[in-house]
Amino acid sequence: MTGAPVRAVLFDWGGTITPWHEIDLRAQWTAFADGVGTLACARDDLAGRLYAAEALAWQRGRSLGVSARLPEILEACGLARGEALTEAGTAAYRSFWEPHTLTHPGVGPLWEALREAGLRVGVLSNTIWDRAYHRSIFERDGVIDLIDGDTYSSETPWVKPRAEIFTYAAREIGCAPEECVYVGDRSYEDVHGPQQVGMRAIWVPHSRIPVEQQVSHDASPDAVAHELTDVAAIVAAWNLARR
Ligand SMILES: [Mg+2]
Repeated sequence: MTGAPVRAVLFDWGGTITPWHEIDLRAQWTAFADGVGTLACARDDLAGRLYAAEALAWQRGRSLGVSARLPEILEACGLARGEALTEAGTAAYRSFWEPHTLTHPGVGPLWEALREAGLRVGVLSNTIWDRAYHRSIFERDGVIDLIDGDTYSSETPWVKPRAEIFTYAAREIGCAPEECVYVGDRSYEDVHGPQQVGMRAIWVPHSRIPVEQQVSHDASPDAVAHELTDVAAIVAAWNLARR
């Protein structure tokens, strides 16, 4: 094996370090509208507008590579930042999501093993949520201290698979892109994306990506991890092969 030694392993979030769940994307916004306190037609109208605004944001991500943020989606539907109704809806929306945010129980031991092997551990997520919320999840699940660098698309102009966000995430963790391995569950975003900048890609092929979220592309992963915990052995083998 030639090439740079692996010095950092960056992980996708949803479906990779959280178990893949089929989410009813309309139901999250119905929960939001319930939290706001709307009833009957007004409830369905608000939930429908929020659903459409979010779908547009992700579609723009897939077609243009641009990021979006939850407050922008809410504002597009007349829900201003900081207002009591916006806060109430957001709290209900967070409750809807909470069971789907649980960190895979293998993540803590995996990240400890990688760090013991002298590797840095990072996170790079396509998300409309902010850093504070994501870090509160990692803190709740006891893994926050194992993260050396975390990048959230919501605080950059881009989403995966744009090359820029991978270069940015590598810089955040203090390594060259070719010294990084990326681990994720989506071939387009998480295999094609990082390989553009010279990162190696490990695919975790267990998520059922909805058809409307799939993008035609051509990429093959440098390795496949059928169990998340396989990542440590894959990376160790790459570094051993260089000696
Ligand atoms: Mg994912």
